[in-house]
Amino acid sequence: MLQQCLGVPHISTGDMLRERIRKGAEAGSDVAATMHAGALVSDAVVNKMVEERLRQPDAANGFILDGYPRTIDQAEHLCRWFDQGGIHEVVIHLAVDYNVIIARLTGRRQCPHCGTLYNIVSHPPKQDELCDLDGHRLAIRDDDREEVIRGRLDAYGRQTRPVLEFFRSAGREVHEIEAENHPPEKIAQKICQTLESHDRTENRR
Ligand code: AMP
Repeated sequence: MLQQCLGVPHISTGDMLRERIRKGAEAGSDVAATMHAGALVSDAVVNKMVEERLRQPDAANGFILDGYPRTIDQAEHLCRWFDQGGIHEVVIHLAVDYNVIIARLTGRRQCPHCGTLYNIVSHPPKQDELCDLDGHRLAIRDDDREEVIRGRLDAYGRQTRPVLEFFRSAGREVHEIEAENHPPEKIAQKICQTLESHDRTENRR
């Protein structure tokens, strides 16, 4: 939804890492084991992967970073890169209660073929367990099992939450959006409105 409204590519480090594992690019490395345990992959691996991706021509006019930065080291790395390139970022913090996150993730299903996401409660497929677009049987992501989700939330609290404070205290632009009681369409709309008003302010400068 955001990609459509903003017209820039969606860059998800989780998707990129899963794709590398699928293609066998991580054979023998501990990236897959780390992800299965719900822990964070090393900063060096992720920083390099993102830098390479942001150099691609389709990212020249902006991009949506999803799932990155997740540690202070990643945030510092990214800010240095942005500052050198004269890129101005806007940080969107989606505020959702832990129990709601657990309920959403345990209900999440994904088409292994085209990647479309469903939720058995809030956005079920038309036919039980089958993708609406290509009929493939939907799958549960390895790290969407409840015990792994708790590990991911623990990593969030220890390593990622401080990133928010890092951006705030560095005087960077941060917007908090309440994302608990609205459907995805409404949340996407709120994010787009926030970014549009940011663009208007920038253009007046
Ligand atoms: P996600 O799809 O964003 O929920 O990410 C799934 C998993 O990929 C995470 O639990 C981590 O193991 C790994 N991962 C994704 N992004 C990062 C990142 N920025 N830093 C470290 N690990 C990451």
